[in-house]
Amino acid sequence: MSYQVLARKWRPRNFESLVGQEHVVKALRHALDEQRLHHAYLFSGTRGVGKTTLARILAKSLNCETGISSRPCGKCSACLEIDAGRYVDLIEVDAATNTKVDEMRQLLENAVYAPSRGRFKVYVIDEVHMLSTSAFNAMLKTLEEPPEHIKFILATTDPQKIPVTVLSRCLQFNLKQMPPPAIAGHLARILGEEKIAGETAALGLLAQCARGSMRDALSLLDQAIAHGGGKVTEESVRAMLGAIDDTYLYTILESVARRDAKALLAVAEEMQSRSVAFDGALLELGGLLHRVALAQAAPDAVDAPGSLRERFAALAKALDPEDIQLFYQIAIHGRQDLPFAPDDFAGFTMTLLRMLAFATEERGAGERAKSGGEKGAEATSAPGAPHPAAAFDGDWPRLANALNLGGVAKQLAQASALQRFDGESLELCVPPAAKHLAEKGFQDKLRGALQEHFGKPVRLTVRVGETGGNTARGRAAAAISQDAFVRDLVENFDATIVESSIKPAQ
Ligand SMILES: [Zn+2]
Repeated sequence: MSYQVLARKWRPRNFESLVGQEHVVKALRHALDEQRLHHAYLFSGTRGVGKTTLARILAKSLNCETGISSRPCGKCSACLEIDAGRYVDLIEVDAATNTKVDEMRQLLENAVYAPSRGRFKVYVIDEVHMLSTSAFNAMLKTLEEPPEHIKFILATTDPQKIPVTVLSRCLQFNLKQMPPPAIAGHLARILGEEKIAGETAALGLLAQCARGSMRDALSLLDQAIAHGGGKVTEESVRAMLGAIDDTYLYTILESVARRDAKALLAVAEEMQSRSVAFDGALLELGGLLHRVALAQAAPDAVDAPGSLRERFAALAKALDPEDIQLFYQIAIHGRQDLPFAPDDFAGFTMTLLRMLAFATEERGAGERAKSGGEKGAEATSAPGAPHPAAAFDGDWPRLANALNLGGVAKQLAQASALQRFDGESLELCVPPAAKHLAEKGFQDKLRGALQEHFGKPVRLTVRVGETGGNTARGRAAAAISQDAFVRDLVENFDATIVESSIKPAQ
C-alpha cells in the first residue's frame, strides 16, 4: 500500500472543499455561473495559501465536459486529467524556472492554436513576477488581443513586481493567509477521516507553526504522524517542532509584570541551560502577548490550555494593555535584531530588559514597601493592576499617562510635575517652555479627567516653574537615554536624542 502525502491526497478538488478564501470563491463562482468570464486572472498571496489549487479548480470549471460551471463534475476525462496533472490544454508554467524570453515566446506563440480537447487553453503561470521584462512584453501582446480560446491564470507572491500594464488586464484576487484556528479545524477533520488520533493542543501547535499556509500545515501533519508513530500528541509535536515549553514564557511575562529583573534573568539562564532556541522563544512570546491582548479586549475570545488557564487569566489582569503593545513590539524587534546580537543569549536578555526599561512605571509591591510610599487601599491590590486605583500614591507621571485624555490636555498632564495634592486640590507646575499648554481650556479638560478618575471634583491649579524633570515626559526621556540600544546609537553613531520628540506611551 503506497502512502500518499496528505497535502496531495487532501488537495481540494472543488470550490466546496476549499478552506478559507470565501471572498475569492464567491466571486469566481458567481462569474462562472453567470458566464461572465475574464481572459486573465491574477491570484496573489503568500506561499501555500492555495493559489495553484484555486487555479486548477478554475481550469476544471472552464473545461469540464458537462459545461462551464462552478461545480465541475470531477468525473469526466477533462476533470480527471486536470486532477492528475496531465490535461493537454492546461499548461502550467513555473516562471521561477522559465524566465527565458525564448521559452515564454514559444509558449505564447503556441497559444494562437486552438485547444486540442477542451473549450479553453488555460495557462497557469506560477510566480509570474519572476518573468523578465521581455517575457512580460511577449505576454502583454497576447493579453492585449487575447484569442477567445485562451485563459491566463497568473499566481504570485509578489504582485508589486508585475508591470502595471499586465496588472490592469487581469482580474485580481488577493488570497488571505489562513488563521490558525481554521487550519487546526481542517487538520482535525483530516485526521478524523484518516482515523488517526490527534490531540487538539498538538493541532494548535502545528497550525501556529504553519503561519497561514495550509500546505505547510499538511506537510507538518505528515511529519507529526511519522514522528508520533501514528498518533499526533502534544508532547511529540512539541518535541518535533522544538517548541518552547510555555511555562517559560509565562514566567517571563509574570516577572516583567512584577518588574523583577532578577527573576527575568534567572528564567533566561535556565532556558539557556536547556538549549532553548531564543529566536523561537521571542516568536512565541509575541504570540502569547497577542493572546493576552485579545483576552483583555474580549475576555471570552481566548483561553489557555487547562494547566495554564489561571496563570493566563492572571497575566491578562496584571499587564497594562499599553505595556502589552509595547512588549509585543519589543519582542518582534528583538527577534529581528537577534542575528546582530553578540550571541543569542545576549540578544534575548537585552530584549527582556528593554521591556523593563520601557514599561510604564508600575511599582511592584516590594518596591512600594521599600520606598515607604503611601499605603492606602492601593497597597493591598495586586501588583501591576491594570488601572490605577482611585487612591493616589503620589506618582503623578504615572497618573498623567493613565488619565482618560487626548491632545493638548494630555500633553499638559505629561509635561507637568506635581507640587501638592491633599485629596481635594491638586497643584501642578509646567516648565516655562511648555506654558502654552496651560491655557484655561486645556486645564478644564484635565480637571474633567481628574474628576472622572477620582470620582469627585478636584480643584486644579497650574503654575509655571521648574519641574526638575519629574514628569511623565521626563521619565520617558530618562528611560530612553538609559536604554542600551539608544546609548549604543548615541555613543557609536553620534546620534542625539531630540527630547521634544519623546512621547510617553499613550
Ligand atoms: Zn467534469
